[in-house]
Formats: sequence, structure tokens, C-alpha cells
Amino acid sequence: MAAMEALEPGLYMGTLPDCLEEQFLREASITALVCCMSSPPAASSIDETHTLHVPLDELETAPLFLYFGTCARFIKRQLDEHGHVLVFGADGEACHVTIVAAYLIHTRQRTASQALEFLRARCPTTQVPASFCEQLELYEKEQGRVNLTQPAVRQFLLTRTNALEGYVTPGMLIRDHPDTQNDPYSDPVETRPPVPESAGTTRLRCKMCRRELASEEHVVPHEPGKGELSFDPHKRDSVRKGLDKAPVARQRGSGPAVPPSGPGPAAVALPPHLARIHSAMAMQGTRKSLLHSARCSAYFVEPLVWMTESSDVVEGVISGRLMCPNTKCQAKLGSWTWAGTQCACGAWVTPAFALQRAKVDEVVRP
Ligand SMILES: [Zn+2]
Ligand SMILES: [Zn+2]
Repeated sequence: MAAMEALEPGLYMGTLPDCLEEQFLREASITALVCCMSSPPAASSIDETHTLHVPLDELETAPLFLYFGTCARFIKRQLDEHGHVLVFGADGEACHVTIVAAYLIHTRQRTASQALEFLRARCPTTQVPASFCEQLELYEKEQGRVNLTQPAVRQFLLTRTNALEGYVTPGMLIRDHPDTQNDPYSDPVETRPPVPESAGTTRLRCKMCRRELASEEHVVPHEPGKGELSFDPHKRDSVRKGLDKAPVARQRGSGPAVPPSGPGPAAVALPPHLARIHSAMAMQGTRKSLLHSARCSAYFVEPLVWMTESSDVVEGVISGRLMCPNTKCQAKLGSWTWAGTQCACGAWVTPAFALQRAKVDEVVRP
């Protein structure tokens, strides 16, 4: 075969069977391999410690994102040690091209489209499937880092690849869960001193027993109404009917509420002790609710450690009820599903860990 050109000093990309010929490996002084095939070919002259396997087939659903960090770090380490790395896959497939693109995003701060354009010029016949392009775009948005507990990452893996089928465990997706430390995919996180809890953080607690369940940083945002068109007409009607009444009344007390009015006649006329209460209530009114709109039926939160104990958020289970973790209470607080669900405002939330608004209180810790 013709001598292969390096993509950058020491980095090569190729397909089987040509690139594994001993003559090529010798000429290019290859010292390490990244093998992007589910069944790796027979051993070459490169030993196991200098070989990294990405055990995925080229399927639209393959969660290739999981391997971006491991591969980028491996390639970078080999090049830093003046090695020569060959990233290869089966002829006509695109896993290896995608892995090299991820390396360029991680180390060269390329965008996904820049990286792909650069590689397409080198191998014009390779088609990178849309799903792999999306995973590179996600990697770019995540600044070239893999962290499975990032909401966008979790959502992508669960909805557009079948990552839960043997690749990741629920524990790896739950912040602060012991499994997060055993997750083989995420980039190591620099240990930062814990951020002291700021005063005034809004928390959600069980209405029955007042056990704290989540704080505002655990609430996953969704855009109210987005996806409303996916309602079937009957459902949409019934939701609208519901809307016209109850939520409007509720909104007065606690909703995203009335802007603070200036010192209107009511405030001026109040005696001092009542005026204080009045202004405290006005403050409450301006505080932003953790609900995204008055129509939302639930607080959608990240999967949290207490859910593994009380609510069966464990491997092999894909949905269930959310129960209060206080063993004396065990109130039903809502439901969860990795597959996602629709909020009453119309938005789809995936995965969905929904605490019903009627079952929890918002409290501000002073
Ligand atoms: Zn409770
Ligand atoms: Zn909503």
C-alpha cells in the first residue's frame, strides 16, 4: 500500500486490512493502536498495553460518545511520549473517523464541523452517520469533556443511543452516587472544595414530613409549552380546560407572580407591623419559583441518591414511583422514567424524575 500520511505528527488513521500490514506499521513507526471494532483483528506486533479497544459496531444507536474521553486521553498520552498512534476501523465505517474528530475537539479546540471537514478531506468516501455527528456536537458543547452526570449528556445518551443497554448503570448518571466514581468513561474531575451552601437557596421538601428532597441546583429546566403540539387534540383540550381555572387562582399566592408594586395606597395605610409582613410577602412574590410555568405539573429534578433506596432507581428498572426517603413517611411524591414524560405545560422531559407540585413545598433556607 501507499505510505499513509500523518494527520498531525505521529497520528495516523486507516482501515483494515491495509493499515495493519507489518510493513506499514514499521514504516510509520506505529507504537500504539486505537481499534474501533467490536471484534478486534488478530494481534499485531503492538502489545496490549499500547492498544485501546472501542468495542462498538457502527450502529446509529452506538453510544460512541462514551469513548471520546478515554480515546482522546490515550492518544494524547501516546503522542506526548513521542509515540506514533494509528486509529483504525473497518473499511467503509466511520467509528475511527469519529474518534479522531473527538480527539481534535478535545486537544485542538476544533468545532465538530471543523474536525469533520478536516477528516473528510483525508478520506472523502467515508460517510459519518448523523448520530455520530450529533455526538461530536454534544462533545463540542461540553468543551471536549465527558461527564455522564451533565444533564445534556445524560439526556442525549438515554434518548438517542441505547447507553443503558450494558454500557452505563443508573448509578453512573446520579450525581454524588458511589457509582459515579466507578464510571470508566468520564474525564477525571479536578477535586474542588465543596461550595458552601449559599443562604437563600430554594429547596423542595416533602409536604407530609418536611424531609428535604432537592435544592434548586437539582431542578432540570425545561421550556414551558415546547412540544405542546405533540399532544393529541383531546388531551390538549382537557389540559386547556384545566388551565383556565385552577392554576390562575393558585398563581396569586405563590406563582411566578405579580411584580412588586411600589408603595401603593395599601402599603402606606398599614401600621408598621403589618407593613413589615406585607413587604415580606412582596419579597416572596418576587422570588422566582422553581416551577417553570404556572402550568407545570411537577418539579423535574436530576436523579438523586435517595431515589436508589426509596424508589428503585437501580439497574434493570426503567420506571417507577418516587417515594419519600423518610422511612416513617414514604409518601408518594411522583414518578420517574428514563424514557421521559410530558409535563402539563406540554414540554417533554427526558429522563423524567417528577416531584408532583402538590406533594412538595418550596422553602427558602435562611
Ligand atoms: Zn415525607
Ligand atoms: Zn412544565
